Amino acid sequence: MVTGLDRTSSMRWSELTWPEIDSLDRDQTVLLLPTGAIEQHGPHLPVDTDIHDATALALRAAQASGDGTIVLPPVWWGMSPHHMGYSGTISLKLETFSNLICDICAAVHHHGFTRVLIVNGHGGNAGILAATAMRISEELGLFVGTVSYWQLIPRELREISTSDIGGMGHACEMETSLQLHLRPELVAMGNARKDMPKPATSLSGIDFRDPGPLVYPLDFRRDSSEGVMGDPTVATREKGAAIADAVLEKLVHAIDEFRVAPNRRDEHVAGMPAAVRPGPKSVDPGGSLP
Ligand SMILES: [Zn+2]
Repeated sequence: MVTGLDRTSSMRWSELTWPEIDSLDRDQTVLLLPTGAIEQHGPHLPVDTDIHDATALALRAAQASGDGTIVLPPVWWGMSPHHMGYSGTISLKLETFSNLICDICAAVHHHGFTRVLIVNGHGGNAGILAATAMRISEELGLFVGTVSYWQLIPRELREISTSDIGGMGHACEMETSLQLHLRPELVAMGNARKDMPKPATSLSGIDFRDPGPLVYPLDFRRDSSEGVMGDPTVATREKGAAIADAVLEKLVHAIDEFRVAPNRRDEHVAGMPAAVRPGPKSVDPGGSLP
């Protein structure tokens, strides 16, 4: 007798049925939302490098965290205007990207979920995600977390890397090593060439290990001949595995803490002095009124 598909439960939201999603614990389930970019990564890496890294790292962390961590469908596109000078980059407008993140968070919140942790793989998204998290706090009363994976491991990156500062900028020692570890068949190491960044000021670093305090918008077409900033020639599979392992350990720890952290605005408001507590929202004089 055919009783239906023999399902094993997935950690991917997209592979679950609605009753399976409906049965998830609303307060304790952590939803990981991978964000990245479709943008040029030099002549040796695929344009989906950032979102592939973020999704792969999120899936590993979800697996290691066990039940209660689900990976939402990844947000493929990010904000990459500084890479539009190369064929292949698909950049969203700032408002589009922010609205997309807000809408996804509003939808899962509609279904009762309260813990969304964004796992970001593209540097150009970081500032917008931080601002969007504040917007979501205002609009939904939810505290959404954001983490860019390399920011979890600055010490480990210094230990693992062999390039000078500047060698881990873009399509670089770090990103090429990760891709060599995750899917070596898509890395064209024969095309990888060193092209160190030339920061406009001494306070601006272009390196995942040390970004420097003064940041400014880049234009890769102006600043890099082939779209690389850094040294992909010293990338290895072993370095990629070490980076992925270091991220995994920190990300699992972050998920464990995020699962039990206060994450709704009202929890904090309840503890605030009455004088600074926001008043009740005004009632919408909408269609239910005569
Ligand atoms: Zn990248």
